[in-house]
Amino acid sequence: APENQNISDTREHHQLRAADAANLLHPWADLSALGDESAMVIKSAKGVHVYDSNGKQYLDAIGGMWCITLGYGNEELIEAMAQQAREMVYYTPFGDMSSSPAARLAKKLAELAPGDLNRAHFTTCGSTAIDSAVRTAHYYFAAQGRPEKRHVLSRRNAYHGSTYLAASLCGKLADRTLFHYEADFVHHLASPEYDPDIATESADERLSALLEDMESEINRIGAENIACFVAEPILASGGVLVPPEGYHKATLDLCHKYDILYISDEVVTAFGRLGHFFASEVHFDILPDMIVAAKGISSGYQPLGVVMISDRIIDSIKANAPEDNPVFSNGYTYSGHPVACATAIANINIMERDNICAHVQELGPYFLSELRKLSSSPIVYTVRGHHLMACVECWTGEEAGPTERNIALAQRVDQYCEEAGVLVRPYENLCIMSPPLIVDRDDVDRIVTVMGDAIKRAQRDLDMGELD
Ligand code: PMP
Repeated sequence: APENQNISDTREHHQLRAADAANLLHPWADLSALGDESAMVIKSAKGVHVYDSNGKQYLDAIGGMWCITLGYGNEELIEAMAQQAREMVYYTPFGDMSSSPAARLAKKLAELAPGDLNRAHFTTCGSTAIDSAVRTAHYYFAAQGRPEKRHVLSRRNAYHGSTYLAASLCGKLADRTLFHYEADFVHHLASPEYDPDIATESADERLSALLEDMESEINRIGAENIACFVAEPILASGGVLVPPEGYHKATLDLCHKYDILYISDEVVTAFGRLGHFFASEVHFDILPDMIVAAKGISSGYQPLGVVMISDRIIDSIKANAPEDNPVFSNGYTYSGHPVACATAIANINIMERDNICAHVQELGPYFLSELRKLSSSPIVYTVRGHHLMACVECWTGEEAGPTERNIALAQRVDQYCEEAGVLVRPYENLCIMSPPLIVDRDDVDRIVTVMGDAIKRAQRDLDMGELD
C-alpha cells in the first residue's frame, strides 16, 4: 500500500544518508560537515527535473554540473549506451587498437570543430583533457628541440579541473588548500572579466590593461620559455566571468606573436551551451591550436573528455618525434571508452536532428534578458552570462564581492530557490545557472520567477537584520 511504500522510502532515505555520512568522501567535501547526515541524495530524474530521496521534485537549473544538456532519462541516449555495452563494452584503446565508436566520433568531431582542428585525442573527463592538452604542447616544443618552452599561462579565477596539473592551472585563490600545486612553470595572468553594468572604466581601457598585463608577463618569463596559454572563453566556475569584446582575438594574436599555443577550455561552452557545437570561432572570433571539451559532449551520461588538436601541431609532432621512440605516451585505460563515445555520437545526432543549438540561440537571449530584470533589486549587484550560462551576484549594499555577508545572502537566495523547487548552484556570493539545453520558455520563466521571489525573501531577511 502507498503508506507502506512511504515508510520504506523514508527508511531508505535515512539509510542512504547514514551510508553517505559514514563512508563517502565527496569531491570538494566540506570537511566541517563530514560525517553529518545532511547530504541531499538525488534519487531519480526525468527531463529537466530531479527528485530527492524524499520524492521532492526540483527543476534542475544547474544541469547536473553544467553537463546535462539533453535532460535526464533520454531513452535514445540510454539505448545507445545499452547497445554499445551489449556489442562490445570495452577494449584497450592503446597503440594501434581502435573501436568503432571512438573512430566514428573522432570523424564527426573533426567535421564539427572549427578550422584544422581535425585530430581528436580522447580522455576521461575535463581535467584529464586539460592535462593532455598541456602535455601535447610540451611534447610539441620538446620534439622541436625546445624543451625549455614549457611554461604555462593561465588566469586568476580560472577553473580547469582537479588533477595535479589542471588544479595548478586553477586561479581561484580561495580554493588553494593544503594540497601541493605546480608553481615552477604555471603562471596566472589577471582575471579578464568586464561587466559594463558595474565597470568604472571603458571596455577599451580594460582590454588594454589586460593585454599589457599579458605581454609584460610573457616578457618577464621569456616567450622562449612559454609553451601555451590556457583559457576558458567565459570563466565558468570562477563566476561566469565574461571578458571584454575583442579580448579573445587580441590574446590569440599575442600568442601568435610569441609562438605560444592557444588552448581554449570549452569544457562548459562547447556542445550547445552557447548555441553552437564549439563557441570559440563563432562567438569569440578565434581559431585556437587546441580545444578541450567534455561535459555536454555526452550530455553528462558518460564521463568523456577530448582534446581537438590542429593538423599543424600533429604534423609537427609526427615529423619531429624521436626516431628511436616515436610514441605519444599519454592516455588512459578509459580514453575514449566505447560506451562513452557511442553516447556522444547519439548525443550529437539528437542535437542535430532536434536543432538544439538553434533552440539555445533563441532561448538563451530571452533567459538572460528576463534574468537581467532582477538586477533592479538592491541586493543584486549584477546579473551576467551568455546564452544558457548565467549568474546572479548578491550584495548586501556594503563591500561587493565574496565577503562573508554577501555569501550568507547568496546562500539564502539558494535556499529559498531550493525550497520552491528550483536548484541553482551556490558559489561564493553567486547563484550560478546552467539549465539543460532542452528547457522551454515555461521552464525559463519558472526559474526566473522563483529566483525573483527568493531574492525578495532574502532581501526581507537582510532588512530585518536576520543575516547578522
Ligand atoms: N574546465 C572547465 C572550464 C570546467 O568547468 C571543468 C569542470 N567544472 C573542468 C575543466 C574539469 O572537468 P572535470 O570535472 O570533468 O574533470
